[in-house]
Amino acid sequence: MVDFYVFVILVALFMYVLVVNDITVLYKAYLVFHYLLGMWPFCNFLINVTPDQQLQWVFLSAAFVSLCFLGFGWHIFALVLTGKIKNVKKAYLYLWAVPAVFCSLLVITNPWHFLFAKPSLNGWATRTYGPFFWLFVFSIIIYFIVGGALMIYELATVSEKNKKKQLMLCIWGVVSFLALSITDVLLNAFILPETVVVPGLTSSGLIILAICFVVAIQKYDLFKIVSIAQREVIDSMATGMVIIDKNEVVLDINKSAGRLINLQPGHVFNVGEFYPASGIEFDGEFLEEYGGDKSKILQTEIIINQEQPRHVAMNISPVFDHKKNLLGRSITLNDVTELRGLIEKINENNETLKLQNEELLQFQSKLYKANRKLEQMSITDALTGCYNKRYILNQLDYEIAAARRYSIPFSLMLLDLDKFKLINDTYGHLAGDDVLRGVVDIVNKNLRRSDILARFGGEEFIIYIPHIDHDGAVALANRIRSMLENQTVKTMIGELSVTISIGLISVIKVESINIEEDFLKDLLARADNALADNALYEAKLNGRNCIVAEVFD
Ligand code: GH3
Ligand code: MG
Ligand code: MG
Repeated sequence: MVDFYVFVILVALFMYVLVVNDITVLYKAYLVFHYLLGMWPFCNFLINVTPDQQLQWVFLSAAFVSLCFLGFGWHIFALVLTGKIKNVKKAYLYLWAVPAVFCSLLVITNPWHFLFAKPSLNGWATRTYGPFFWLFVFSIIIYFIVGGALMIYELATVSEKNKKKQLMLCIWGVVSFLALSITDVLLNAFILPETVVVPGLTSSGLIILAICFVVAIQKYDLFKIVSIAQREVIDSMATGMVIIDKNEVVLDINKSAGRLINLQPGHVFNVGEFYPASGIEFDGEFLEEYGGDKSKILQTEIIINQEQPRHVAMNISPVFDHKKNLLGRSITLNDVTELRGLIEKINENNETLKLQNEELLQFQSKLYKANRKLEQMSITDALTGCYNKRYILNQLDYEIAAARRYSIPFSLMLLDLDKFKLINDTYGHLAGDDVLRGVVDIVNKNLRRSDILARFGGEEFIIYIPHIDHDGAVALANRIRSMLENQTVKTMIGELSVTISIGLISVIKVESINIEEDFLKDLLARADNALADNALYEAKLNGRNCIVAEVFD
């Protein structure tokens, strides 16, 4: 009956674990393991309640088979608990299942007339064991010892307190189980006579094992899906995370941080080791702030010298409990090396672009100046520097239209040097050129900014004078004429005197101008031909050095 109660307790524990935990694959594996635990006492109970020897054998073999797989299950459980299952290949697991399968076959076939176990006269409740039984015991002990060794090794290397306690509990559980089941075997198979059986020793071992496991699972959240998931997320993050307590002792460090800095839980996080980072301006305040108010959020960049230096953005934040007491700090590390490289490259590119841009601007300014010069040249008379004929013809179109719209009276004067051919013939062409330049200088002295003087041909000039009445125009023409008469012009062969004849036409009633009817052409024809032929001709006829004026109507 003891076995039966053991079974009931095991099933109760099974249900408890089932109800309070979120299901994970790991957890399901544990349930199978736990079920195998329960099979032993349950089958032993059944052997005692039936007199039928065949049935008794079925129950007994089921009990032994479950023990075979319990050993294998324990080995797997040890791999899971120590985290080594991730690195284990499937072939390894199959290999480890071979002894369990082989022993199960030995149990089921019980070959060559009970070489595994032999019933007493009363049936299978009491029995003697053959050599295969000892092989079976040996394989189970190997399973448990190897699993236990994995846990002891892990216990020696792991530093996390909870994990240590968890492993200790499991090791205690398995040691108790081994001790009790070995005692069972020794007592019932060797020491005591065939007819006497001390029941429940292996079952007690199983129950201690199960309790240890359940406590380990529940107390230390072995199967809590959230904590497992959180751990996985933290470890798979690209951001490095280090949790330190108030004394800078590392409590936890994830894989990304582990790749950047060589620290383990229990080590002291010494920020001065990484800071100041070479290549980054030393900011003494940071270390001061780090050592000072620990509830501050701090940010900086460090360079970690690995084979290739890594730029790492470091963010330090305080961790408080629900009563706002400072527990420690969390440090995040983000590798920004690539970003730095990119920024540097962009800066370099920008610099080149800036230089290219400057060159382009210089080129543009040169081009602008050249264009201005060209433009100036295209409207200037190369010899005298005043405007040329093309310019004044273009400009007169615009000026006359404006004069008409705003009722601005204006005058046009045509100037012709007297006997210029004689100057050329007497003093040479170059001296003639000097005379032309000297005349322009003297004429210009009498003009306003709004007047336009242009060379119209050889020794002829034209002047457009807006805002002037007829008398004003005549007075201006006289001034120019007399100034030339009274002054000499400098030439390469010395001072020369020159006189000028002027024909002028004043347009006073500008409203009556009909622009559509080629007024300018008309006017110029009158200035050029009529003046030349009539007015100027008249002037020349009058003995030169005189003015002929008329009013346009
Ligand atoms: P008039 O008093 O009747 O006006 O006589 P003129 O000699 O001034 O008139 P004409 O039209 O017979 O001669 C103009 C001369 O101007 C002829 C030409 O050699 C000269 N000439 C034209 N263009 C230039 C120039 O660019 N430079 C020089 N030095 N002489 C020029
Ligand atoms: Mg002439
Ligand atoms: Mg002339």
